[in-house]
Amino acid sequence: MSGIGEGPLRLVIFGRQGAGKGTQCARLVEEFGVAHISTGDMLRAAVAAETDMGLKAKAVMSSGGLVGDDIMNGIVRDRLDETDANTGGFVLDGFPRTIPQAEALSIILGKRELHAAVNIDVPLEEVTARMKARGREDDTEEGIARRLELYEQETQPVLEWFSARNRLITVDGFSTEDIVWDRLVSAIKAAA
Ligand code: ADP
Repeated sequence: MSGIGEGPLRLVIFGRQGAGKGTQCARLVEEFGVAHISTGDMLRAAVAAETDMGLKAKAVMSSGGLVGDDIMNGIVRDRLDETDANTGGFVLDGFPRTIPQAEALSIILGKRELHAAVNIDVPLEEVTARMKARGREDDTEEGIARRLELYEQETQPVLEWFSARNRLITVDGFSTEDIVWDRLVSAIKAAA
């Protein structure tokens, strides 16, 4: 299945760290044949490849901070202009995380309208417990706390930004992977 309704599927996906966003994104890519654009994955690849950008991002990422808007906007603009994302649609994961990024995104997309911004909603206490259990390299206790705090401070306003533009769909993510998946697909189909 490729796309939904008219044209390819273009989604932004939100969720607190540990909300199961990565897993659901993988399923979306499989089901709808769209590109998965994860800014976290792109940054981690740049860190591993020790590019200039990667070297700069590394310290910010391990402290749980946010990489600068100008860098992020540039990365995402270039990626969205690649053929697969441009013609086949995408799931954008990890961006926008700030209001300036949300504003940049609407300029980058131009006529390529988003179908929706979907928030996979899982309570703070639950995601904190899940993240402590998964033990990724940047999942230090301090890093987890800082990332969750930044999410509330910087990214909640971005959810409100999409909500004010009638683009936000909230999916209850406090359930099994399959149940959340069913909710997600129904929500996307209802929005298309
Ligand atoms: P998480 O695992 O915290 O959900 P990601 O995998 O999306 O986070 O990103 C990992 C790190 O990369 C973030 O903590 C942040 O430092 C950086 N990062 C990713 N996307 C962005 C963005 N849009 N703006 C700023 N920093 C970002």
